[in-house]
Formats: sequence, C-alpha cells, structure tokens
Amino acid sequence: MSVAQNKLPPHADFVIIGGGLAGMSTAWGLSVLGERDTVVLEKENVPGMHSSGRNAAMIRQVVPGAELLQLALSGARFFAGEAPGWQQAPPFTPGGSFLSAGRGGRDALEQNAGAATRAGVELELCGPERINEAVPCTAGGEISGGVYCPGDGVTDTDGLIQGYQAAARTGGMRLFTDCEVRHIDMHNGRVAGVQTSRGHIKTGVLVNAAGAWAGLIGSMAGAVKVELTPLRRHLYYTGALAWADQRWPYVWDVERDVYFRPESGGLLLSACDESAAEPALPLVDPAVQDLLAGKLSEVFPRLLDIPIARSWAGLRTFAPDRAFMLGHDPVLEGLYWVAALGGHGVTTSPAVGRIAAGDVSGRGAPAPAAFSPSRFT
Ligand SMILES: Cc1cc2nc3c(=O)[nH]c(=O)nc-3n(C[C@H](O)[C@H](O)[C@H](O)COP(=O)(O)OP(=O)(O)OC[C@H]3O[C@@H](n4cnc5c(N)ncnc54)[C@H](O)[C@@H]3O)c2cc1C
Repeated sequence: MSVAQNKLPPHADFVIIGGGLAGMSTAWGLSVLGERDTVVLEKENVPGMHSSGRNAAMIRQVVPGAELLQLALSGARFFAGEAPGWQQAPPFTPGGSFLSAGRGGRDALEQNAGAATRAGVELELCGPERINEAVPCTAGGEISGGVYCPGDGVTDTDGLIQGYQAAARTGGMRLFTDCEVRHIDMHNGRVAGVQTSRGHIKTGVLVNAAGAWAGLIGSMAGAVKVELTPLRRHLYYTGALAWADQRWPYVWDVERDVYFRPESGGLLLSACDESAAEPALPLVDPAVQDLLAGKLSEVFPRLLDIPIARSWAGLRTFAPDRAFMLGHDPVLEGLYWVAALGGHGVTTSPAVGRIAAGDVSGRGAPAPAAFSPSRFT
C-alpha cells in the first residue's frame, strides 16, 4: 500500500471507531445499503484483536429476552447463508448445541426455549440421557434436562471479521489501523470530526463501536452518561484429545454457567467467570481454573481431570441493565452507539451491523427501543 493510500481522507460520511465485530459488521451493513463513504479507525495494527478475536465463537439462538432473540435468529439466518455482499458463505460449522440445566434452572431454560420455538427455531426438549448419549463425557453430572438446537454451531471469528471487511471494502469502506481516536471535534454542539494518532478527519456521523473502550469514547465526546463495564472471562483449550469427537454439539449448562465445545482436535472450555477489568488485553488469573474445576465436578465430572494446554481471557462489556447500546446518542447529535454487546456479539453481529447501518443512515428502521441509549437519560 502506498503512503498516499495510508493517509486519512479529509472527510467521510461515516466514521466508525473500532475494527471489531461491531464496527466491521456496521461497515458491511452500510455497504449493503450502497453507502460508499465509510472509514473505520482501529487503534491496533489488525482488526479483531480484542473481544472479537478472543471469544468462544458459538452461535446460540436460545437466549433470554424477545429483542435479543430476534437478533440471534437473524444472526443464525446469516450463518446459514443469507449474507448479502459476501463472495463466499460465512464461516460456520453447524454442529448444533445442547443447553442443559439442573432442577433450579430448568424452568427458565424451557421458557426461553418456548419463546425460541414460537419464533420458529427448530428445537427439541430432552432429558439428560439424550445429552449423555450424544456427548458421552457429559454423563454422571447433575443435569436435569436440556434443549437440543440443531441449527446452532460455531463460527471462525477471524474469517468472520475478514469476511465483513472484504464485503465492506468492495462497497468502498476504507480501514485505517494503528489509528487511535484521541479527541472528538464539535461544531455548534454536534459531532464534526475526530483527531487521531494519524491525523484529523471530518464527519457528521461518528459510530462508537469501541468495545471495552466505548464508555471512554462516550465520556470523551460528552455523550449520555452511562457506565459500561468490561468483565473478564477465561477460555481453556485442552490440546488434542483422542476421545473428543469433533462432531459433538457444544454443551452449555446455563444454570451453573459452564460450557465446552470441540476445538482443534480437543475441547475448549469456560467457567463463564466474570470479574471487572480495565479496557486492555486482560491477563490470565490462574485462580479461575479452580472455579472451572468446581463447576466441572458438579456438572460434567468426567471432565474434571482434563489437561489444559493453553488459556486466555477476553472482555465482555455490559451496560448496567445488560441490554445492548444500539442507537443514536440522546445528548450528542451525530454520535451513534454500537456497543455493550456483552456475551452475544458474535451471534448477533450480522443483525446488529445491518440494524445499525439502516438506523444511522436513515435508510432503515430504528434499532429496537430496548437497546436505545436514551434509556439512560
Ligand atoms: C471469553 C469470551 C467468550 C465469548 N463467547 C461468545 C460466543 O460464544 N458467542 C457470542 O455471540 N459472543 C461471545 N462473546 C462476546 C463477543 O466476543 C463480543 O460481544 C464481541 O466481540 C464484541 O465486539 P466489539 O466489536 O464490540 O468489541 P471489540 O472486538 O473489542 O472491538 C472494539 C475495537 O475498538 C478498538 N478501539 C477502542 N478504542 C479505540 C480508539 N480510541 N480508537 C480506535 N480504535 C479503538 C479496539 O482496539 C477494538 O479492536 C465472548 C466474549 C468473550 C470475552
């Protein structure tokens, strides 16, 4: 790439802060609508280095809440092949999922499953025997029942980000990496542009897709006051295991919050830990492995002595009510939020990107009211 191509343009119709799934899917959504003048600014030297590249990549349709369910279903349709502007099918391994619970969590799980069934998701309520038969290493634990969802599966998040990026680039999007937004410029009380580590760019529409940094960007801009909290979560990879069938569905006990799935010849596990963290690449806390062991001994005891070859952590960022921040800022004209995607940002990214693109460009419907940033005024 030449130096000239590396220079920020003086102006763009849409400037997106953040090259994770939120920012890239919004750029793709804008390109689907024919908006050609979009610039994505990413402070790292590659997109997807933070939450979007450090997650479990599971596509899950049985989720709590009517609005989140609609986004998850739309996401599942995308992963099944409805991907406008993509040259190839989105990366997806349709292995299915089992969500399980003990006695205490079964009612809530079945309620969410009922809502998903009414919305058209193919599901099967099942007992523990069905789960044990399909995934033998689940035997022996305190599972009272579950739900099998054959349309769930796993994506490849690197491929997903690259796919959004390629489709958006074809539509005119320009990505600038090593480009940190440091100041938001105002004119007559509305957004006028941003100052970055690579210079200045003017815009009337700024999208805050900064993940764990979205709260800081909001404060920098003088946007609606809302405390977004990044929570750290660990993942564990076992290394290759001869007995771990790579065709198994993923298994997630939603009551005790512990999951595992096939990964690179072995398994990937999480104890679904949550601890408040600074926006940064999170360090691994060795103590969390004890939490994993405790949950495995209760729910999946056959996995208790499983080897751990590698562990890492990522951040899931939440608004105080745990609903997404998706919509126009109610205080600062010209700022649009695509943030606080918590633990559902992979599954919902296709829907989030297209809704945000339609709403911010005025070419589509407004984002669901439940996600509106104006709920914090
Ligand atoms: C362990 C773990 C497991 C998960 N598993 C799943 C799962 O199985 N399924 C699922 O659906 N979701 C899952 N998630 C959630 C999902 O990963 C997130 O919701 C999603 O990645 C959030 O994307 P994002 O683009 O908002 O954030 P990010 O990917 O963090 O992107 C934000 C980007 O903004 C950039 N940025 C920040 N500040 C600036 C600035 N000032 N200037 C320029 N750039 C800036 C950052 O560098 C970063 O690249 C998981 C998350 C974790 C941590």
